[in-house]
Amino acid sequence: DFPALLLEDRDGRSAGRLTRLTLDDLPDLDVTVEIAFSTLNYKDGLAITGRGKIARRMPLIGGVDLAGTVVSSRDPVWKPGDRVVVNGFGLSETEHGGYSRFQRLKPEWLMRLPDAFTFEQAMGIGTAGYTAALAVDALEAWGAGWGRFTPGEREVLVTGAAGGVGSMAVMLLARAGHTVTAATGRPETHDYLAALGASGFIDRAALAEKGAPLQKERWLGGVDSVGSTTLANALAQTARGGAIAACGLAGGGDLPATVMPHILRGVGLIGIDSVMADMPRREVAWARLARDLPLDLLEKTIRVEPMSALPQLAEEILVGRIRGRVVIDISR
Ligand code: NAP
Repeated sequence: DFPALLLEDRDGRSAGRLTRLTLDDLPDLDVTVEIAFSTLNYKDGLAITGRGKIARRMPLIGGVDLAGTVVSSRDPVWKPGDRVVVNGFGLSETEHGGYSRFQRLKPEWLMRLPDAFTFEQAMGIGTAGYTAALAVDALEAWGAGWGRFTPGEREVLVTGAAGGVGSMAVMLLARAGHTVTAATGRPETHDYLAALGASGFIDRAALAEKGAPLQKERWLGGVDSVGSTTLANALAQTARGGAIAACGLAGGGDLPATVMPHILRGVGLIGIDSVMADMPRREVAWARLARDLPLDLLEKTIRVEPMSALPQLAEEILVGRIRGRVVIDISR
């Protein structure tokens, strides 16, 4: 048998429990992967604590992400020894996920891990980094098409900057030549964020209060993982033709905004969905990560923890106490 974290139904809510499983407990899907590392995302925190409705059937093995080696495959595309990564595709929602030494998966969920990364680094990136890469891809596509996103014109905003998506977005935008302003509620992370490439800082409280529908134009665009009034203010402060990529809801799933920035300044609001993004988009995003992410900086964002620490870490990520990214060592 091997260790796993199982999401179980407790009075209608999910609760994570560390347990041991055997191969017979896994679903009958075509590719068997031996998992080396998984990771902790905000969504994993919601699933393990039951504070969000993530797992839609239970019991279900948790973990949105995984990286490991194919051990057997009934599908000709995958061979034993292939290094793979899986992000999303319903893992920990409707499908068994990455908090397990082994998992059986559908072949179309697997992506070949770029040679640039070890399994540990791949999970240091995880859904957070891959989502940040999707967001930057989307902003550049916006800039190349309808709107603007030329580096140097103005500052770019990243909210929730010290979190997982935020840290990764700061690195990728800085590497793409942008002047990055980080919005964070933790001043003690300024040195860390400066090392990742941020050159300006604002207190997240400045974006949290409800503001005017149109405010002074400041941002070329941005990556938001907070939602609610923060996203509304970011849009109201975006300059003509800019866009904000909305990734998350760490501050709330509402959007108390007006259409004014959109109809008077042509500002775009781009939605980012990492879970069901198609394979070509995933490959482009991971290629950006392989090309642009400085590995020494990536290491600064990563801390490795054993699976046994997940219940505690799940509580911490929901109150915004996790800096950067937590990688989960599945063997421990
Ligand atoms: P995370 O590491 O916890 O980062 C979230 C950050 O948001 C925190 O570090 C904190 O940053 C800030 N924050 C937390 N609570 C806040 C509040 N009440 N008001 C304002 N700011 C707050 O989580 P993550 O894994 O990066 O995920 C971030 C968000 O993106 C989550 O909502 C997640 O569900 C979502 N997400 C979506 C996708 C997608 O496909 N769209 C993919 C991945 C993640 P500071 O300490 O710097 O202020």
